[in-house]
Amino acid sequence: MIRLGVRCARRSRGTAAPAGRRWESRSPAGQGGSRALRVLVDMDGVLADFEGGFLRKFRARFPDLPFIALEDRRGFWLSEQYRSLGPELSEKAISIWESKNFFLDLEPLPGAVEALKQMASLENTDVFICTSPIKMYKYCPYEKYAWVEKHFGSDFLEQIVLTRDKTVVSADLLIDDRPDITGKCPAAGAEPNPDWEHILFTACHNQHVRLQPPSRRLHSWTDDWKAILDSKRPR
Ligand SMILES: [Mg+2]
Repeated sequence: MIRLGVRCARRSRGTAAPAGRRWESRSPAGQGGSRALRVLVDMDGVLADFEGGFLRKFRARFPDLPFIALEDRRGFWLSEQYRSLGPELSEKAISIWESKNFFLDLEPLPGAVEALKQMASLENTDVFICTSPIKMYKYCPYEKYAWVEKHFGSDFLEQIVLTRDKTVVSADLLIDDRPDITGKCPAAGAEPNPDWEHILFTACHNQHVRLQPPSRRLHSWTDDWKAILDSKRPR
C-alpha cells in the first residue's frame, strides 16, 4: 500500500494551480504543520527507460537501418539526432514511440520504483508524476496511466499530472531529464518563472551538458535524492 496514495484519496488538492496564483505567499514547505514539500517527478527518462525501450524496438523493427547507441546519444530530441543519420530516419524513429504498447512496455529505470515509493512515504512530502504525453494521443496517455498502475498501484493514479507545459504546475522541485524546460504556448513558456527548482536527472542524452551553478543534477536513483529534498525544506 502506498501511503501517500491513501492520503491523496482522502484529501482534495490542486495539482496544477494557475500560474498567476503564486504560492510563495503561503507557508514554506513543511513549516509548522503547514503544506508539504511538493515534488514533481518526470516519467520518461526519469522513471521509465524511454531511451532503452526506443532503441530495443527500433532495432527490432528496422534491423538493417543505422542506429545511435545510447553512449552516442546527444541532445534531448531523439528524432533530431536520427535525422542527422538520414532524412527518413526521423520519421521512422517517431513511428516507434507512436506505436501501440511503446509506453506501456517501457522498463522502469534502475531503482526508480523503489525510490519513488520511498519518496511518497516521507512525512510532509507530496509527490506527483508530471509527464508530457506526445501529441499523437491514441495510445500514449492511456498507456502512461496503465504504466503507473502497473508499477505503483492504482492509488498512485491520484498523483499523475499530464501537461504539455510543466511551467504552469506549482511545486518546490521538478526532477526531469530535459535540460531546458519551457512551456509550449508561447514558446518561452506560459509561466516564465516557474515555482519549482529544476533538478536535471542524468540521462544518456544530457550527461555531457554542463550546468551553470546553482543548477543541480540527480545522477541516478542511487544518488542522494533525499538530500535534495531536504535542501528545500525549512531549517
Ligand atoms: Mg523526460
